[in-house]
Amino acid sequence: MEKRTVRDVDVAGRRVLVRVDFNVPLDPRGRVADDRRIRESLPTLRDLLERGAAVVVMSHLGRPGGRVVEALRMAPVGERLAQLLGRPVHVLRDCVGPEVEAVVARLQPGEVALLENLRFHPGEEANDPEFARALARLGDLYVNDAFGTAHRAHASTVGVAAHLPAVAGLLMEKEIRYLSRLLEGPDHPFVAILGGKKVSDKIGVLRNLLTRVDAVLVGGGMAYTFLRAQGYGVGRSVVEEDKLDLARDLLDLARQRGVEFVLPEDVVAAERPTPDAPRRTVLAAEIPDGWMGLDIGPRTARRFAEVIEGARLVVWNGPMGVFEVEPFAAGTRAVAEAVARCPGTTVVGGGDTAAAVEQLGLLDRFDHVSTGGGASLEFLEGKELPGIRVLQDR
Ligand code: ADP
Ligand code: MG
Repeated sequence: MEKRTVRDVDVAGRRVLVRVDFNVPLDPRGRVADDRRIRESLPTLRDLLERGAAVVVMSHLGRPGGRVVEALRMAPVGERLAQLLGRPVHVLRDCVGPEVEAVVARLQPGEVALLENLRFHPGEEANDPEFARALARLGDLYVNDAFGTAHRAHASTVGVAAHLPAVAGLLMEKEIRYLSRLLEGPDHPFVAILGGKKVSDKIGVLRNLLTRVDAVLVGGGMAYTFLRAQGYGVGRSVVEEDKLDLARDLLDLARQRGVEFVLPEDVVAAERPTPDAPRRTVLAAEIPDGWMGLDIGPRTARRFAEVIEGARLVVWNGPMGVFEVEPFAAGTRAVAEAVARCPGTTVVGGGDTAAAVEQLGLLDRFDHVSTGGGASLEFLEGKELPGIRVLQDR
């Protein structure tokens, strides 16, 4: 699945329309609360600017639902982008139309314009051909660097590619390179760590990885559906009753394929997921009635760490517990540190997992932390993402 990238094209003197994922969290005063996604786009933008392109940047922000929402204008994002790039950014008040075209036509090599929130227009999410054509008028070449939105067939991720030569940005290239490595001829031992709230969110990923990995370590809320499927009482832990048969099928599949499937031996249980609730570390088989398992216990964390440290390839998706609440964060921290220490190739996917890793200050200790939550999951399920499919093959 080799795609052409910005490196394969001559951009000097051309107007390059770049789709980025600037869907960043804003604080209550409307300023950018976390600029990781903006920083991740800088290599592509700098590369294009240094090679003499005029760059037109576009993104969505939040869910305005096809109309103008003042609180979701791109202005604060443009301000942050200008600071990070160290050059002015022309922030436009719309993303299509004659006025936008006029500004873009005057843009010089090395200059940057940022279009207004794409989702102010209903045509964006509807992948309306007229809207896509209007966007395409703003560039000679289209670059998609928005991996986080590549699983959506929208005008700016798919429609526009029908009108312009379409190549991948450097972030998109990196995402594809690392995530493909997990699916195509991976190194062994290959260990998958899965957690997060629900089994149902991760069924496709688990099924697809089970045919490739040597071991699966399961923590987080999803572990309790597997424990329940094996007949354990798990108190009031999150269990998806309608997924018990499926959990048994997945356990069988693992057994058939000789995949080691490791569930928690001990857990941190509490009456409620709050910092002040009475809590206790107990064996997974002995969660008190009415209590819930909210983190993996220390024994499980040590066992997971052993397996992780012996791996040559690791993929991790989903926190091991309710890490947002400090008394239930230790399991996620222990796993994050073990993955950080692992000498093999380490890849993290999932929005909350990436947030946990960032919160722990370990972002730089992994080979790749995906910027796409839903997109990375769909990729790992083995789906071809529409925003990647439309890019030119090498
Ligand atoms: P990601 O976004 O990385 O794919 P998920 O969205 O699947 O991860 O899961 C993250 C959520 O799972 C977190 O909000 C966390 O609090 C929750 N979670 C983890 N363990 C448990 C548990 N034992 N019980 C309830 N919720 C849990
Ligand atoms: Mg999530």
